Amino acid sequence: MVDKRTTQKLEERLKQELATLEIGLTDIGKMDPSNPADWHGTNGDIETGTADASILADRFEAKTTNEGIVTELEERFNNIKDALIRIKKGTYGICSNGGGKIPLARLEANPAADTCIEHAD
Ligand SMILES: [Zn+2]
Repeated sequence: MVDKRTTQKLEERLKQELATLEIGLTDIGKMDPSNPADWHGTNGDIETGTADASILADRFEAKTTNEGIVTELEERFNNIKDALIRIKKGTYGICSNGGGKIPLARLEANPAADTCIEHAD
């Protein structure tokens, strides 16, 4: 287990990163109201009535790009949320695959890590 002081420091870092990610996600995406863990890329409103085909194609491309970034941010966002839940439950720092201790150096490098190096994907 990670000692309380260290856990608090890592929790602070997780919360800060979560806030930053939320700003990024809100900027280019929208949270699914029925599933707060799911975000979708947005690119403003597509005005199908006035836009011609090439403009629509450009916008679609922008949306596709946003979607990719949103997916990445969303994954990190959810990993951090899970880590914060583990801190609350008192299971933080325990490998979710092997049940062993996650080395502190790994948590310092990535406070959202939920496995030891051995069991990382
Ligand atoms: Zn492990």
